[in-house]
Amino acid sequence: MPDQPSPAPGRSGPDSCPGAIQVHPARDGGLARVRVPGGVLTGDQWQAVAEASADLGAGGLELTSRGNIQIRGLAAGAEVPLAERLSAAGLLPSVTHDRVRNIVASPLSGRDGRGVLDVRPLVADLDAALCADAALADLPGRFLFGLDDGRGDVAGLGADVGLRGSTVLLAGRDSGLRVRPGDAVAALVAAAHAFLAERDGHWRLSELDDGVARIAARLGAIPPGLPAARPVSWGPIGATPQVDGRVAVAAAPPLGRLSPAQARVLCGAPSVVVTPWRGVVVPDLPDEGFLATLGEAGFATDPDSPWVGVTACVGSPGCARAHADVRADAITHHSGHPSHGLPVHWVGCERACGSPAGEHLRLEATPEGYVTL
Ligand code: SF4
Repeated sequence: MPDQPSPAPGRSGPDSCPGAIQVHPARDGGLARVRVPGGVLTGDQWQAVAEASADLGAGGLELTSRGNIQIRGLAAGAEVPLAERLSAAGLLPSVTHDRVRNIVASPLSGRDGRGVLDVRPLVADLDAALCADAALADLPGRFLFGLDDGRGDVAGLGADVGLRGSTVLLAGRDSGLRVRPGDAVAALVAAAHAFLAERDGHWRLSELDDGVARIAARLGAIPPGLPAARPVSWGPIGATPQVDGRVAVAAAPPLGRLSPAQARVLCGAPSVVVTPWRGVVVPDLPDEGFLATLGEAGFATDPDSPWVGVTACVGSPGCARAHADVRADAITHHSGHPSHGLPVHWVGCERACGSPAGEHLRLEATPEGYVTL
């Protein structure tokens, strides 16, 4: 969550996670976070979000590390027409569950022949099950579901409850529970209920003492004690052949931020998948020609691009805590900082919002300048 100060871990106060309705009052105006389960939008839905940002906000879009989309610069009261637009586009199916629809999924699942199951139907079924379960509206806005099709791209992203193939994961660890695809959603929902039963103001499963064992016990399983899945540092970039003969192209806007023009480029796409690495996949294309269009619009389209694996929090002027305009500094100075092959994350203060899940280099602004951590 790159745009809002993170609370201290453990027991905390009210859940201040922004949503489409509960807009966060940032220094540069209202900040709305549009939940996109699995990162999947139809072309019409992408266009609706892009136009909402242009008409009601500052224009442009931000992609988050959970495959969600943020709109900044909303005027007071703009959350009302925004919610109406999102509802009309099918992006706000539940007012009560808006902030708990946090689901990341393998972006190329079911398309490129990798993985052991197609998680796309599970994303839709899990989202529907969440919204239909009144008690799950009490999940914290930071609670995350992760559906990994077996290839290992999403398993290490720190989801509280997830799936890797047939294995149910808790905080990225093997729970000891195996499920068939048809039973997966019920198992994940049961795990979420178990977390609600065990939590005492905790935001995340990993904050619970012996959380994995306690939740697994409620599911009737014994964790084998394996280490947590390792995070993948960056997502797909470039063209990928699909098993049906079509092509998926993947690209990343620098720092996960699309200008209004970049957002418009994607309005003609048949569908868009926002990845947990702040990139986009445009699947089901007849050929890879659209990749060049994205490149001309300023997206990184090559895995060797200097912008792959580089992220930043909002910094100033959007965040009052920031010691610097980190995005502008990243754009100006990024190439001057060796990353040693690691992801690089620029932050405006010690809270380090939106940090990547795994090992990375952090460039942190302080009153005295940047420090490397
Ligand atoms: S300046 Fe600090 S509090 Fe603000 S978004 Fe960046 S890391 Fe978070």
